[in-house]
Amino acid sequence: MLTKIIAEALVNESNELIEKASKIAIITHISPDGDAMGSALGLYHFLYSLNKETIIIVPNRYASFFDWMPAVSQILIYDEHKEQIDQLLSSCDLMILADFNTNSRIGQLKEAVEQFKGEKILIDHHRNPDNMADVIISYPTISSTSELVFRLICRMGFFETINKPCATAIYTGMMTDTGAFTFNSNNPEIYFIISELLTKGIDKDQIYNNIYNTYSTDRLRLMGYTLSEKMEVLPEYKTAIITLTNEELNHYNYQEGDTEGFVNLPLSIKGIVFSVLIKENTNNVKLSLRSRGSFPVNQVAATYFHGGGHINAAGGESYDSLIQTVEQLKQVLPLYKEQLEISES
Ligand code: 5GP
Ligand code: MN
Repeated sequence: MLTKIIAEALVNESNELIEKASKIAIITHISPDGDAMGSALGLYHFLYSLNKETIIIVPNRYASFFDWMPAVSQILIYDEHKEQIDQLLSSCDLMILADFNTNSRIGQLKEAVEQFKGEKILIDHHRNPDNMADVIISYPTISSTSELVFRLICRMGFFETINKPCATAIYTGMMTDTGAFTFNSNNPEIYFIISELLTKGIDKDQIYNNIYNTYSTDRLRLMGYTLSEKMEVLPEYKTAIITLTNEELNHYNYQEGDTEGFVNLPLSIKGIVFSVLIKENTNNVKLSLRSRGSFPVNQVAATYFHGGGHINAAGGESYDSLIQTVEQLKQVLPLYKEQLEISES
């Protein structure tokens, strides 16, 4: 039996809103990761089983290593079909927002979501959500939004309705947000849920392979180059910084998702507790921050880089140049020296 994490009132309110809805839009965040994709598709398959007309909208294109996910081709990409999607949204009466806590995480979709006339349910696990929905299901102690989707479906009394595609999506999100169950994954109930998903026929080994073992040759060569030429290790701060310019990315035919996981690599060095990937985008510089132990990277991201996230995984952005951003980060490190020293590796 699972602990009843989601408050009864929220379960009932969600159930009622879903029941009375005639057309539902599921929305998730920009550059959707595995948990965004998993929670959105998990909800989609569930609602489809209930014969609810449902659409999924993401702000921009997802990485190609999600192409295998059941029903992924149904996902609408806002950047590419803005007008048609605006039109579709006007015929929806319920929105389910998944895996983000502020509308600034959905890029150009922000306006459409804020102007939406129907009701909204938020399902998320990031701290301090904005007051952005009628029903806010926010549990930051839960390691993935996909796990919350499973818990919500079960609490609404629909465990039997979960089919293999739904279970596959949920497992994908649970797996990717815990680094394949290597961090944030000590809650025994995670493994109870996995055993329940296995009874739905998921192939967890295949899901792992689909996500982690389908990269391109270029991506692996970019990784080799990055580690040998572009990783700066600062032992005095237990920190490593990786930078990648547009030119370098282009040289390796960069595709969305190719640098996924790079930021975690320096954390396999003994004694390194803080790792930052700083990457040039077309309009800005994007930072990915990761840590081990108690070092709160979300605090660094929120204070200095217009971002946020979780204690051990966060992101942010900068409108300065790549070089200036690195300089800024290096100026910040001394302020955190003590916290870095006591963080367990
Ligand atoms: P990633 O480094 O994989 O892009 O992001 C790691 C986590 O940091 C995400 O799951 C998300 O919670 C958070 N995150 C990433 N980028 C941003 C950002 O620009 N703003 C905020 N608030 N959070 C972010
Ligand atoms: Mn998540």
